Amino acid sequence: MDEDDLYELDEDIRETECLLCGKIISSSYLHSELKDDKVYQLACMVMHYRHEHVKYYNNSVGYVCHYTNVEYEEFKTLVNERAKRQILRKAKDKLIEKGFGVKHFAELKNTDEKTLALARKILEKKE
Ligand SMILES: [Zn+2]
Repeated sequence: MDEDDLYELDEDIRETECLLCGKIISSSYLHSELKDDKVYQLACMVMHYRHEHVKYYNNSVGYVCHYTNVEYEEFKTLVNERAKRQILRKAKDKLIEKGFGVKHFAELKNTDEKTLALARKILEKKE
């Protein structure tokens, strides 16, 4: 498949980029779930971060899967929260520049108080 073919796939699906590594990412599932474009971009980044930036996630997920689905979901949530906080710390300037705010993090699934506190600390300074 050449590049032109790739661009013809799923035209409706909004592509976004990882603010940490610049990789182009998208998710048809998240696109259909999330109406707000910025929330969608963050959700894509969290998913991408979990799979491509967190090495221990892919290594340990097989192990965790021997247990129940509930435990897997809890583990995924834990890793997602860490990913959100890493994105906040590492991509701080870009997040501010592109207009991401605390409310966008608040709208992501399962965002906990610790992550929101960090988002306020990092993103509200310049607002
Ligand atoms: Zn990345």
